[in-house]
Amino acid sequence: MNFICVACGIQHPDSDAPPDACPICEDERQYVPDGGQQWTTLEALRADHSNAIRPQRELTGIGTEPKFAIGQRALLVPYGAGNLLWDCITLLDDDTAAEIERRGGLEAIAISHPHYYSTMVEWAHRFDCPVHLHEADRRWAVREDPALRFWSGGTLDLGHGLTLIRGGGHFAGGTMLHWAGGDALLSGDIVQVIPDRRHVGFMYSYPNLIPLPEARVRAMVAMLEPFSFETIYGAWWDAIVAREGKAVVRRSAERYARALRGEMPPGA
Ligand SMILES: [Zn+2]
Ligand SMILES: [Zn+2]
Repeated sequence: MNFICVACGIQHPDSDAPPDACPICEDERQYVPDGGQQWTTLEALRADHSNAIRPQRELTGIGTEPKFAIGQRALLVPYGAGNLLWDCITLLDDDTAAEIERRGGLEAIAISHPHYYSTMVEWAHRFDCPVHLHEADRRWAVREDPALRFWSGGTLDLGHGLTLIRGGGHFAGGTMLHWAGGDALLSGDIVQVIPDRRHVGFMYSYPNLIPLPEARVRAMVAMLEPFSFETIYGAWWDAIVAREGKAVVRRSAERYARALRGEMPPGA
């Protein structure tokens, strides 16, 4: 049985009994809920959850209802004759697979960071495609599989106008996807789209509110400098910066640095 952590949604290696703990949730960037560690399985999840598939501006979002685990939605991005799945969700069922096949299927999967590793191996097997992960986060890929392809360095050109960019920060291998055809950055929660849509956030831990050093934020912005992007697609339903994405990132990094230096916003 491949047990799934109810708190973060990651699927663990085959075992007879549930694992003792989930390393993703024991890490200080996540948490074990008040009630303690709980486990489920893909079969159980299929019984009482389903996936919504709906437009996210120029892309298609896929997310689970009711919300499961962290609650991110994945995105289908045009890629060659088919699609690339950006980030991943735990629930994969026949309806979802059929709808993705109808839209051209998956040529590849790429994931921003371990909080969204979910059931990536199930997806890779179902669509017979690779999963691109940054090797700096390899130890968090608890269910090993030959479909997992670990890349290294700062960028990876996937072809067809898609480029993976290592931003680091939230995780050492924290990755974003540049989609040249859509003049867009898909940022997971490496660069976090926040409610005002005129800024983004940068954190080491979002649920536990641990900030990043200024140097890490500046390094992330520098990695994005060669790329043009108007739109930023974040990790949640409708978390989208529609305009001036690159200026939004630059402006937000400056605001972040000012706060770390002890400068309060006007009126504070
Ligand atoms: Zn977990
Ligand atoms: Zn995260």
